[in-house]
Amino acid sequence: MEKEKRIYADNAATTPVLPEVVEAMLPCFTELWGNPSSLHADGQAAAEKLIAARATIANVIGAAPSEIYFTSCGSESDNWAIKGAAAMAKNGRNKIITSKIEHPAVMNTCKSLEKDGFTVAYIGVDEKGILDMNELSSELDETTAIVAIMLANNEIGTIQPIKEIAKLAKEAGALMFTDAVQAVGSIKVDVKELGVDMLAFSGHKLGAPKGIGALYIKKGTRVKNLINGGAQENGKRAGTENLPYIVGLAKALEIADQKLPDMERVRAMRNRLIDGLTKIPYSKLNGDRDMRLPGNANVSFAFIEGESMLLWLDIMGISASTGSACSSKSLEPSHVLLATGLPIEMAHGSLRFSLSHMNTEDEVDRIIEVVTEVVAKLRAMSPLSAEAQNEAVYVK
Ligand code: PLP
Repeated sequence: MEKEKRIYADNAATTPVLPEVVEAMLPCFTELWGNPSSLHADGQAAAEKLIAARATIANVIGAAPSEIYFTSCGSESDNWAIKGAAAMAKNGRNKIITSKIEHPAVMNTCKSLEKDGFTVAYIGVDEKGILDMNELSSELDETTAIVAIMLANNEIGTIQPIKEIAKLAKEAGALMFTDAVQAVGSIKVDVKELGVDMLAFSGHKLGAPKGIGALYIKKGTRVKNLINGGAQENGKRAGTENLPYIVGLAKALEIADQKLPDMERVRAMRNRLIDGLTKIPYSKLNGDRDMRLPGNANVSFAFIEGESMLLWLDIMGISASTGSACSSKSLEPSHVLLATGLPIEMAHGSLRFSLSHMNTEDEVDRIIEVVTEVVAKLRAMSPLSAEAQNEAVYVK
C-alpha cells in the first residue's frame, strides 16, 4: 500500500532544505573544501565562493557585503546584536527596550543583561499583537541604548511597524535591532528601508540547513565581539567559516526572494485556512488578520488542549505546532498569547499552522476537515458541560 503523504504545516519551526540548495552546497564538500583564510589556491577558491555568497545575501536585503556577518544560527545573531551593542553603549545609556512577545533568544538575552545591571522595559502589545507605540514613546529617553523589537512574531505572525519604531529609536539616540528570523524569506526585507542598525535572520526558516544564521550590522555600529579568536568575518566573529552552509543560505535566500510574488498564493491559502478554522464554534484567530506573515494561521479553540489536538493531527498525518517549537516542551501557556490578553484557558487550546510554497489548496482543505473533526471529538470528551462551554472562558 502506498504510504499516505503527510502534510507539513510547520514551516515557522523549520523548513525542508530545498534541492537547489543541496545542489549548491555539494561542491563545497567535495571540491571547495579549502579554508577561505588560506592563501593557496584551495583556500582562495573557497574564499571566492564566500565573497559571492555574502554579496548575494547583501543584495537581497539591501545591505553592503561588508555589513553581513555569518553566525551559527538566529539565536547567536540575537545574542550578539543585543549583548554586543549593550557592551559598547555610551555612558548613561543602560536601558534596553524590547517587547513582551519576543522569541526566547531575545527575551532571555535581555533577562541576562538585567542581571548585569541593565534596565529592561518590556513593551506590551494590543489584542492583535501590535506593539503599543505610546508605551514605547514614553519609555524612550536619553538612557536608552538599544531598542530590540522583532519584525514578525514566530507564534502569531504579527508584523510590527519597524520603520516607525526605528525612527523613534533614532530620535532618542538609541540603536535599533530587529529579529527578522521569521520575516526574511517570507516578506520583502530591506535594511535601509526599515532604517535598522542590526537585523538577525536564520537559514533553516527559509530553505537552508539548520546551523547557519547571519547578522546585518550597519557600517559604523559599535558591537563587541561575542566569539573571540581569529580574524574571520572582518575580525568581528571568529571561527572558520561554514562555507557549505553559507553558500546554502545565499542560494535559499536568492530563491526565496525570487519567489516572493508567489507568497500571494500562500497568503490566499492561509486566508482560506483561517476562514475554515474560525468557522468552528468557539474559535478565535490570534494576531492581526492583515498585518501578519503570509503563511501564518494561529487559532485558539475553547475547552480543549492544544497538545491533545496536536497529537491527533499528528496521527492523522498533519504536522503543526501549539506555539513556538522552542517552548513546545513546556506546559506553560504561550507568553505571546497571554500578552495579547487571551485568557489562559484559550491560550492552552491554540494551534499554529505555518504554510509555504510547497503546500496546496487540497492540503488546506484537508487540514480544515481534520481539525474540525478533532475539535469535535475532543470537545465531546471534555469534562466541561455544554453550559460551561457558553461561559466566560470564550472570548470573541
Ligand atoms: N527568533 C525567532 C523569531 C525565531 O522564530 C527563531 C526560531 O524559531 C529564532 C529567533 C532562533 O533561530 P535559530 O533556531 O536559528 O536559533
